[in-house]
Amino acid sequence: MAELLLRLHLAPRPFALLLFASSSSSSSSSVSPSPLQCHPCFHPHRNNNLLSIQQHRSSSTACSVSRRHSEKGSLKNRGRRALPFRVLFTLSAAAALVFLRRRRTLQQAKARELMAFRKEEEGTAALAVPTIDTHLHVWASPEESKKYPYFPGQEPTIPGSAEDLLKCMAEAGVDGAVIVQPINHKFDHSYVSSVLQKYPSKFVGCCLADPTDGGGGVKELQRLVEDEGYRAVKFNPYLWPSGQKMTNEVGKAMFAKAGELGVPVGFMCFKGLMLHIDEIEELCKEFPTTKVLIDHLGFCKPPKNVEEEDSLKHLLGLSRFPQVYVKLSAFFRVSREPFPYKDTWQMLKQLRDTYGADRLMWGSDFPFVTTECGYTNAWHVLPPANSNEAFFSEKEVKACMGGTAVSLFKGGWKNHSSGL
Ligand SMILES: [Zn+2]
Repeated sequence: MAELLLRLHLAPRPFALLLFASSSSSSSSSVSPSPLQCHPCFHPHRNNNLLSIQQHRSSSTACSVSRRHSEKGSLKNRGRRALPFRVLFTLSAAAALVFLRRRRTLQQAKARELMAFRKEEEGTAALAVPTIDTHLHVWASPEESKKYPYFPGQEPTIPGSAEDLLKCMAEAGVDGAVIVQPINHKFDHSYVSSVLQKYPSKFVGCCLADPTDGGGGVKELQRLVEDEGYRAVKFNPYLWPSGQKMTNEVGKAMFAKAGELGVPVGFMCFKGLMLHIDEIEELCKEFPTTKVLIDHLGFCKPPKNVEEEDSLKHLLGLSRFPQVYVKLSAFFRVSREPFPYKDTWQMLKQLRDTYGADRLMWGSDFPFVTTECGYTNAWHVLPPANSNEAFFSEKEVKACMGGTAVSLFKGGWKNHSSGL
């Protein structure tokens, strides 16, 4: 019987049924059998008693697999036919239970294996983070400027069309970018909008807030986000009416609206962070759900005096607001050294230590960077990963160079080939 149980346990379920049937065929003649089918042909047996099943098994050519098993079973089990059917029934139920348990264990093991495989796949996908340039500008070429005129007095001095940019990005292996509305077109977004429409897989737009008296204000911000698809807005404090701060009525209304629309506000503190830190902190405190981007390392220079130290301290201090992110961009604007701007490395470490790489993002400030270190070099400010000087882990580099942007601008870079 132990042998039978073992065979029942080890055999696939349909065969277990056959083994049981063959072992109990003689004792079952007095019991009214239930309709059964013979695996693997599922041939129905009209004379439904176990004996006829066995007869069928030994004669039917269509049931060769069943026959093989039943023949083995009947030889092995000869002499054990006197066991009462009820005992056999109980034992077979126990065997079925063992079998089901074993099957469940196997299924669980398979599920665990599948989960592990999926996790591995996710890990690989996480490694394949696209490279995103989170700060650059484009403006119309002289030819295009007939259709998209420059703002009077803001004619560009260097080329900066979308096509010029795309060439640079292809050369440097950059997948996507955030285009920040340039001052050259001031509040006229038509050129950048046309580029966003033309290359939806490449670009995400950051519009320019208009805080001027009687200007676009909140309404225009909402239109640009909802109708034109911009995903961020830039606050340029020097565009506010003279003597007014970014915390004035229109400033607060636009900052609040940006939070409502789910678009981050970028602060461009060209003349120094300390001139605007109070305004930024006030807005962050009052509207904690509005995300904030500090452009170009807050224009903080590697500190050489008390004022510069204070400025950096305040930039690092902004990390206490979870909504604040910092753009590691336009190194040529803050460094005192030529490429690779080693004097900024200490600041980068401090920013990584206070914000974490998932709140830092890389940017080139194209096209201005083309007359400095060049577009491709802009991506190699950090020491090489395998050098003794390396201080960002591979994971941190990936976050800064694209991962943070991808999670902040969800749904951006539509249909990008990297699967975004
Ligand atoms: Zn810029």
